[in-house]
Amino acid sequence: MNKKIAFITGASAGIGEATAILLAKNGYNLILNGRRANRIKDLQDRLQNEFQTQSHAAIFDIRLKEDVKKAIDEIPDAFKAIDVLVNNAGLASGLSTIDKGSLDDWETMIDTNIKGLLFVSRQVIPGMVERKSGHIVNISSIAGKEVYANGNVYCATKFAVDALNKAMRIELSAYPIRVTGIYPGAVETEFSIVRFHGDEEKAKEIYHGFDSLLAADIADAIYYAVSRPLHVNINEMIVMPTAQPVPGIIHRK
Ligand code: NAP
Repeated sequence: MNKKIAFITGASAGIGEATAILLAKNGYNLILNGRRANRIKDLQDRLQNEFQTQSHAAIFDIRLKEDVKKAIDEIPDAFKAIDVLVNNAGLASGLSTIDKGSLDDWETMIDTNIKGLLFVSRQVIPGMVERKSGHIVNISSIAGKEVYANGNVYCATKFAVDALNKAMRIELSAYPIRVTGIYPGAVETEFSIVRFHGDEEKAKEIYHGFDSLLAADIADAIYYAVSRPLHVNINEMIVMPTAQPVPGIIHRK
């Protein structure tokens, strides 16, 4: 198996799924993570049929460090030499001022967006260091560059991803391992349904009346970064809908 291997967290929906499709189309074999095993299975079948992609389903919750270690230890040999890690799994939970926010929501976001990303990275990076090659793509957000009202803890977690993205680049570039941060504005995925705890009507309002980004737009940015020659590191890409110049402004039709 001479194809490159990419490990995508949160591949069962949205940006992760679109990235899996684009990387498969461009000749990668894949390790696909998510908690919803049925979604990952459907994606595996689709990629096998359309692109003859070989893939390994890594069904685990990135918040559970023992599960993360076990699942990554159990990756079959043919997939162990990971070329690209896309730290994509993440979420916003709730949208409210800091005096009214839910502690459970805050904990979920911190555990997933910061600790989960670290648990996965800590298991994958030593292999890259040993092989002296690899590329890590960290999905932050425009919320990791600019704080918006009621975004408080979500923004804090994505600022943390920004810091970790820079830290990884400083510490790993000598090997040489490349590190790229992606900072999207509004992308229409399941993100807002998750943020509003399943309230689909409320989620729809977020995207009404303007052309939001699509998951495939962010997959394009990720593929651009990983397909540059080895001496080129795309440090950061901020990708916004044209109608959303900053997080707090959306020009609706
Ligand atoms: P999405 O459609 O809700 O997809 C999120 C993915 O993350 C799903 O595959 C989900 O899979 C996975 N996930 C969530 N918690 C997980 C956990 N504990 N363990 C394993 N997998 C988990 O949202 P998306 O928009 O594609 O979001 C992807 C990334 O982009 C996130 O980091 C998000 O913060 C970031 N982002 C999104 C936007 C936006 O507007 N959509 C903007 C900027 C940044 P399971 O539920 O199957 O586990």
